[in-house]
Amino acid sequence: MSDFDYKKIGLLCGLEIHQQLDSSTKLFCRCPNLLQGTRKPDFTLKRFMRPVLGEMGTYDEAMLTEYEKGMDVTYECYNDVICTYELDETPPFICNNEAKTIAIEIGLLLNSNIIEEMHVCRKNYLDGSVPCGFQRTMILAKDGYVELEKGKKIGIDVVCLEEDAARKIKTENKTNYFRLDRLGIPLVEVTTKPDINDPDECREAAERLGLLLWTSKVKKVLGSIRQDINVSVRAGTRVEIKGVQKLDWIPLLINHEISRQLKLVEIKDELEKRGLKKDTAIQKPKDLTKALSNMKSNFISKGIKSGKKLYGINFSGFKGIFGKELMEDYRFGTEVSSKVKSISGLKGIIHSDEDLKNYKLSNEDIDKINNQLNSDENDCFVLVLGTQNEVDKAIKVIVKRGKYSFEGVPPETRRALENGNTEFLRELHGGARLYPDTDSQAIINSEAEINNIKKKLPKYPWDVIKDYSSKYEIEERLIKELIFTGNLDLFNDLLNIYPENPTLIITTLLETIIALRRDGKRVENISEIDYKDIFTLLKNNEIGKEAIEEFLSSKSDNPNLSIKDIKKELKIEKISEKDLKKIITKVVDENIAILKEKEMRAMGPLMGEVMKEVRGKIDGKVVSSELKTIIQEKLKELK
Ligand SMILES: [Zn+2]
Repeated sequence: MSDFDYKKIGLLCGLEIHQQLDSSTKLFCRCPNLLQGTRKPDFTLKRFMRPVLGEMGTYDEAMLTEYEKGMDVTYECYNDVICTYELDETPPFICNNEAKTIAIEIGLLLNSNIIEEMHVCRKNYLDGSVPCGFQRTMILAKDGYVELEKGKKIGIDVVCLEEDAARKIKTENKTNYFRLDRLGIPLVEVTTKPDINDPDECREAAERLGLLLWTSKVKKVLGSIRQDINVSVRAGTRVEIKGVQKLDWIPLLINHEISRQLKLVEIKDELEKRGLKKDTAIQKPKDLTKALSNMKSNFISKGIKSGKKLYGINFSGFKGIFGKELMEDYRFGTEVSSKVKSISGLKGIIHSDEDLKNYKLSNEDIDKINNQLNSDENDCFVLVLGTQNEVDKAIKVIVKRGKYSFEGVPPETRRALENGNTEFLRELHGGARLYPDTDSQAIINSEAEINNIKKKLPKYPWDVIKDYSSKYEIEERLIKELIFTGNLDLFNDLLNIYPENPTLIITTLLETIIALRRDGKRVENISEIDYKDIFTLLKNNEIGKEAIEEFLSSKSDNPNLSIKDIKKELKIEKISEKDLKKIITKVVDENIAILKEKEMRAMGPLMGEVMKEVRGKIDGKVVSSELKTIIQEKLKELK
């Protein structure tokens, strides 16, 4: 993908980062702040969502789109870790002070002004992920900044303290299943100003915000941090990209979105150049079910026989528009199709800019369609096949999206995909989604409270990284990884136990663990206490450092055994050099024949034999040098 002149195209990006806090209870009730993993729910609850008129007497566009999807919601609940608050049966309890303190610390680290009197607001949630239909949120801090490596300051618009939504488990037969254990977990939401002007800068800003959040008392597990990016170019519009799971995705996602926006503007210009008008170019949808029931295409005729409807829409003068590539492997047709998929539930659309042979349409079939729709070689037709209900919804989407091609880039929320592309998720919510929560009192952040937190602020993580790197002679990259794996505190603890070799600790926590995981070991069974026990054994000279991996591997397989048990079971003892010599001499004596034949080249096979007995009990280098000496002596003897 070619790079863009970001300044020339007027790129503006902003970030929105959500991070779960590690308080012991939830934000507005006293249920534990603890996900239940795959534990089976105790009961379920079914609810239906329906749109209501807003204060201005109109329906929210995004709300209607959600409603049109026609989804039901089932909530999965537990008896012991969910109360009536999550189920929207009681109003909120008092706001959790521990969570508030963590959030203030984050606000201060971001150089923001802490709000003295916070007001709880409601933010509408339309996808069913909050049973009461809104999330409680409050602005905690405003107008801060985070500084990048080269000194540029990225403005922080607001820091909010809010509740997490329920977690989506699955979608089945038009029902969304949400589990309520996550609902109400305290979150901070950090929103930057649109001060970011190139994709790499965006990656750096996201990384710095992530590092900064992870120096506070937050949940340091996969999925506890979620980042969204806002992207716009001058000729385009603000588009929100949700669910960016990895920092490394950011530059590609932004470049693809720039491409999409610029190409959509090109389409708009092209339509204008062709002299087309949005009210006349898109012709009335036509029911083709009867006229085309005997098509050669099995795909279509089978569908019709099973009771589905076939509709066509002619886009006059649109030749080539649906086929225009907006991003890699993503055409305007894909753009329309993915929106249709998301809203109507249909698998997609067929359009005449694609190779219709893929749908087994014969030339005769195509002629028939062209005839029915009055479509000529300058046009593009679109077909949809589905139940009447699906087709009705799909047509609405196609016409609306088609009309928007005369405007340029529609404002919307899109979902990040692993290949760097995005797909339609929902309409962009209007600004007026926040309204006061009538169930809550104002929450005060006193000056004394704020000053107290100020006194205990942790160091900036990028300074910590520099300090550690020079003090322990470890690459900065590795310290960063320690922070992002949530292991910095553990590293410090282990260093207290075993200060001799910081590099060994870091390679154990990062590389050894990654290697074991790759081998399918359940490394999540290894606790901090286990690491501490292992490094204590090492400190007391009871084991060699070669044994670390064996301990970790064994603990992964046997979660119920302690490190002490494992040591006994595996008979891991550090052996003396005297014992080592005995073992080597025995192995050499047993293999005189090989020695005579291969002489020094017998090192390899004999080393293997010796290691079978001493692996993990003594340094491999010592074994190798000792073996070499003994072989040399033996060879002299034999001559
Ligand atoms: Zn609760």
